[in-house]
Amino acid sequence: MQLYSTNNPNLRVNFEQALFEGLPTDNGLFMPLLIPALPNSFFRDLPNLSFPETAFRVAQNLLQGAIPNDDLHRIINEAINFPAPLVTLSDREHVLELFHGPSLAFKDFGARFMAGCMAHFRKRDLCILVATSGDTGGAVAAGFFNTPGIRVVILYPSGKVSVLQEKQLTTLGHNIQALEVQGSFDDCQTLVKQAFLDQELRSAIELSSANSINIARLIPQSFYYFEAYRQLPNKQTHLAFSIPSGNFGNLTAGLLAKRMGLPIKNLIAATNTNDVVPAYLHSGNYKTQPSKTTLSNAMDVGNPSNFARMKDLYGSTWNIMRDEIKGYAFNDAQTEDAMQQVEKQFNYVMDPHTAIGHLALQSYLQDYPNHQGVVLSTAHPAKFLPDVERILGHSIEVPNRLAELKHLPKQSVVMEVNYSTFKTWLLNNIKH
Ligand SMILES: *Cc1c(COP(=O)(O)O)cnc(C)c1O
Repeated sequence: MQLYSTNNPNLRVNFEQALFEGLPTDNGLFMPLLIPALPNSFFRDLPNLSFPETAFRVAQNLLQGAIPNDDLHRIINEAINFPAPLVTLSDREHVLELFHGPSLAFKDFGARFMAGCMAHFRKRDLCILVATSGDTGGAVAAGFFNTPGIRVVILYPSGKVSVLQEKQLTTLGHNIQALEVQGSFDDCQTLVKQAFLDQELRSAIELSSANSINIARLIPQSFYYFEAYRQLPNKQTHLAFSIPSGNFGNLTAGLLAKRMGLPIKNLIAATNTNDVVPAYLHSGNYKTQPSKTTLSNAMDVGNPSNFARMKDLYGSTWNIMRDEIKGYAFNDAQTEDAMQQVEKQFNYVMDPHTAIGHLALQSYLQDYPNHQGVVLSTAHPAKFLPDVERILGHSIEVPNRLAELKHLPKQSVVMEVNYSTFKTWLLNNIKH
């Protein structure tokens, strides 16, 4: 498998390099040089494939031998060891539940696959740097917990993640270190990006990323689009995926699935009021913004990192991107209202992020009444317990693996938004 930088098509690396470098040196993002269409035989077999077998075939198609089949099978069987059930709400709306992994959010798929790949190739001790607006950190912490030779440093915005999210980041200990940054998610992301561009730091510490910018996070996120399609009762009606989005990794993975031949008519960019991408799809003007705090905090991103990949996939053809991707944005009041409506109408509890996906699908179905949609349910409602219980007016069930966290002590280091403080901390604390 060959990959290039979105800033320079001549900058080429193999999968192993992209996996460990995370970002190209020119500050672009890695993209696969080839996104081969899956053969007809794959789609013929799909109805009878298990989820891990589907994942294996999709991965094999993209990786092109970068990991030997036996190892790839093992990595996938270990990473994709929980289901992604499709729940049908109506003949036009289905929900793909991506929250049955250890951290109760879809990011488990990416984090676990990436951890497996890194463990497969690892030659030296490694420090993984992650900026999180909430869920990435929990998934990465769980995915890498106790992986020998790999330390994980997680930066999260102080006071801007839920109590339980914070517990997921700060209670594991061992090789997982949480930094509580006194700023926004964008500040965390900027600190991490600066570290990767700092050659002096990188010669002292072997750094790697685990954000959605890492291509190894993106690849496994394409697997479950196929798994959704496999479970779809009616495959004739035009299909759209509604994707609650922040950094647009999940949506970009959907674009990969579409390029590999999955019959997706449209991808729906569903956002909260951090609506840079829907605004671009409407106007053709791309204008990043400072991130705004909302109820769906894992999507509070004002400068989505994967937009560079989306642009790259479409070249400069805004018209084609606009034909394939439909954007809709909603505020907190609409989100709360949708959560209540969905419960009343379908007796189904959605978390605030999923509710935005539902709202966007409803808007889309008004524009395209003969299509059907799958909402990606990106998190379990219990991950946002206080908000969900306040909005619905009653308590909801909390899975055991989350309930147990409440009693564990938080361990974090408070960090100001200052690159040299951050760098000094890394140099003093991350020793191999
Ligand atoms: C990360 C996250 C998102 C946004 O996903 P992106 O790939 O960054 O667009 C949406 N919902 C939840 C619950 C998340 O954790």
